[in-house]
Amino acid sequence: MTVDVHVLGTASARPTSQRSVSGSVVSCDDGLVVVDAGEGFQTRFEHQRKRLKINGMKRRLRPNRIGALVFTHGHLDHTWGALPWLQTMSLDRREPGMLMLAPTSPAVLDALLAGKSIPEGTPPADLAVQWKAWSEVGGFAGFSYPLRWVLGDVFNDRWAEVELDTMRATLLEAMPQPEGWRRSRLVPISTTHSVPSCGWMVEQTGSPGPFDRERAQELGLTEEQRGVLARGENIEHLGSTLEAASFRGPPTPGVKVVVSGDTAERASGFTAGLSPDLLVHESTFLEAQTDKAAEHLHTTASGAARTAQACNAAVLALTHYSSRIKSVQEPLGEARTELLQLDTDLPVLALQDGDVLSVVHGHCTHLVATESGWDAVSIAPNR
Ligand SMILES: [Zn+2]
Ligand SMILES: [Zn+2]
Repeated sequence: MTVDVHVLGTASARPTSQRSVSGSVVSCDDGLVVVDAGEGFQTRFEHQRKRLKINGMKRRLRPNRIGALVFTHGHLDHTWGALPWLQTMSLDRREPGMLMLAPTSPAVLDALLAGKSIPEGTPPADLAVQWKAWSEVGGFAGFSYPLRWVLGDVFNDRWAEVELDTMRATLLEAMPQPEGWRRSRLVPISTTHSVPSCGWMVEQTGSPGPFDRERAQELGLTEEQRGVLARGENIEHLGSTLEAASFRGPPTPGVKVVVSGDTAERASGFTAGLSPDLLVHESTFLEAQTDKAAEHLHTTASGAARTAQACNAAVLALTHYSSRIKSVQEPLGEARTELLQLDTDLPVLALQDGDVLSVVHGHCTHLVATESGWDAVSIAPNR
């Protein structure tokens, strides 16, 4: 029931000597999902994989377990590394299918669904434009594994599968999930950026509470009766009804982890009911650049704190720093000050490249990347 988030790049558009552009891997019981893949993603992924191995970590990043590559938006610092990485996996003779999910605009989706071409004036940062370009140079037809390309108008929850050769689109009943996922699902979260955008949540299904074997024993129930109750069905026993629910302890809620991508603060998807166990949120700017954050629809560190409180996050992790930010202590300090003013115990941490956040319900471990491995820091969530 653990969900791990590997944050492989914490820079915004301009990388620095210490920070690469965006790219994260979320790992859950059902498999892996990559959220954004900026320039050099495949090298960073391999580096992280090797380091896990060398350090003898139980958690592994097996490329064959990656079921989906999802994009938060089409700015190149989030997409430029995707195509070469997809090609490498074909060279490695990957076989499992890969689901590609990305936000687009309602106008682009309507045009494609009507059999028309992408409307003129659509920005190159729209994923429909980029995917079309990739298909022209990518050689997907000769790939060792199948790719499914699905674009969504996130706000209206409309999703369409696109045939890249022809750019013909077919409307889907619902956003598809990675193949074989049973106990977790991907959920898009509406965000506000200068191009179509969304955040992504990995949500695990909760598990039912433990079955009360002792009580079943005391009542002298047969194996068969216990089985029926355990499945959640009531039974008749010695003239009275035994409620299945009364044989279960409190259920364990599933873990919810959200990666925001680029967005202005308190975007519409960050509702009070979201309640993620972990929110990885962009914090491109410091307080002094509040105007810039508003102009480019990004978030300041304090804005990330306000967003985390608005959506009842249990832990906030900051990422996507402007190259002006020299030390992560700066955004961390500003977010802490804001949380103090908001009078909340919500813990906040600042990510650096290669960090891992390991989340179970009610607890989060921050594995801070060091020269050779990781130092574990325990974070107590505010619930
Ligand atoms: Zn960005
Ligand atoms: Zn952006």
